[in-house]
Formats: sequence, C-alpha cells, structure tokens
Amino acid sequence: MGIAIVTGASRGIGAAIARRLAEDGHDVVVNCASSVQKAEQVAGECREKGVKALAMQWDVADQAACEQALAKIKEELGVPTILVNNAGITRDGLLVRMKEEQFDEVIRINLKGAYNMLQVCGAAMMRAKYGRIINISSISGMVGNFGQINYCAAKAGLLGMTKTAAKELGPRGITVNAVAPGFIDTDMTAGLADELKAGAKKQIALGRFGKPEEVAAAVAFLAGEQASFITGQTLVVDGGMI
Ligand code: NAP
Repeated sequence: MGIAIVTGASRGIGAAIARRLAEDGHDVVVNCASSVQKAEQVAGECREKGVKALAMQWDVADQAACEQALAKIKEELGVPTILVNNAGITRDGLLVRMKEEQFDEVIRINLKGAYNMLQVCGAAMMRAKYGRIINISSISGMVGNFGQINYCAAKAGLLGMTKTAAKELGPRGITVNAVAPGFIDTDMTAGLADELKAGAKKQIALGRFGKPEEVAAAVAFLAGEQASFITGQTLVVDGGMI
C-alpha cells in the first residue's frame, strides 16, 4: 500500500483521516503544529492497525520545515504517495473589524501551508509518477460565510490551487482533488454559539453536523485506486447544506 502524509492530524478531521488511511493499509505521517502528545496517540492508533506511523511536528506555513519533514519521511518510510492538506485554523471577525494579523495568519496556514506541501511533495510524486493529493477546503470557500472573510478567501484559494495542480501534475499520474466539508463536530466548531449551531442545523438536509469519519470516508475514496480518473474536482461533504 501507500505512504500518506496528513497535515493537522493530531485531532478532529485530520486524526480521523489518518486512522482511516491506516485502516486501508497505508503507512501514515501524523503532522501537528504543537499537540505532539495527541499526534503520538493518533500515530499509536494507526500502528495498532498494522501499518507504520510517525507523529511529526512542523509548521506547514514554514517551507523550509516542510522540506526537512519530507526528507525525514523519505528516509523513514519512503516517497509519499498520498498527501492530505488538512491543517487549518480560524480567526473569525467581521470584514470591517478584522485585524491584519488575523487575515494574514489564516492565509499563511490554510492557503500557503497547503501550497508549501503541494510544491514539496508534488516534486517528489512527479519523479515517482504517482500521487493522490486531497486538499481540505470548506463549503465556506464556495458560498461565503459571515465573519470569515480570511477563512473563505483561503478555502476558495485552495479550490483554484486544486484545479491548477491537477492540470500541472496530471501528466505524471497524479490526481489532485478537494473535499469541502460543511459543519463537522470538532474543536473548530465546538466553540460556536448554541444559537448559531441550531440555525446551521436547520439549513442541513440531514439535520445534524457531520462526524470527522464521514469526511475521512470521502478522502479515502479519492486517495484510493478506484478514483483514478477523477481529478481537479471538489467533493462536498455537508449533509446537504449547500
Ligand atoms: P481542528 O480540530 O481545529 O484541528 C486542526 C488541526 O490543524 C490540528 O491538528 C492542528 O495541530 C493543525 N494545525 C493548525 N495549524 C497548523 C500548522 N501551522 N501546521 C501544522 N498543523 C497545524 O480542525 P478540524 O475541524 O479538524 O478541521 C480540519 C480541516 O478541515 C481544516 O482545514 C478546516 O478548515 C477544515 N474544515 C473543518 C470544518 C469543521 O466544521 N470542523 C468544516 C469545513 C472545513 P495542533 O493540534 O498541534 O494545534
């Protein structure tokens, strides 16, 4: 089977993706920004499924750190065959009140972080003439969201990046797709006001938030052999919200 890098896999959606890819037989790199213990725990759960797993801390927004991480991964596991750009943050605020740092930080991590990993891993995958890349965007990047101008810009940017990378890397046997989740139960949504959550649920056809494992299932499909003729696409996993 393959070798998967999942960024931001210490918790939430990324952790579910790491566990699912391990279940499917892939060796897994469990990246985090600072929750090393949590990443170690997820890597341990992956190893229990019979694959190799490494917990690794690095900041995806730091390109040199991404290059160093890839060098270590190649040494310990081999050339990655799957990259899931999942690491992401929110720094919400209304357009007219947003601070420059709030905007820049979200773009730096959510958009440039994915670009860094795409560039570094894309080159290695091109040499190997195989790869599956999945970028975790959001429905917010497709339809906009109150108070999230920074996040929506980054997530919409990821969709453009997905289509361009699909065109550039396709001739080397690499597919690049996006998954756009709606409201999913993780730390990211845990802090939302009850009123906002209730309002959101009314707009979701299935009447509930999704589970991280339900996003992981879509990623596993796009990462698998059966998705070999799908590239440049966005798979919405939102329970019928948009
Ligand atoms: P989460 O629970 O807040 O977890 C975020 C993950 O990203 C953590 O593992 C965190 O590591 C990591 N991370 C943050 N900054 C990083 C950096 N600079 N370098 C490396 N890793 C970094 O988030 P989530 O809800 O699972 O969301 C995962 C992805 O899905 C994000 O891209 C998010 O935008 C997207 N998404 C989520 C929802 C939702 O409803 N939850 C909806 C649509 C899209 P540490 O633990 O070390 O901080």
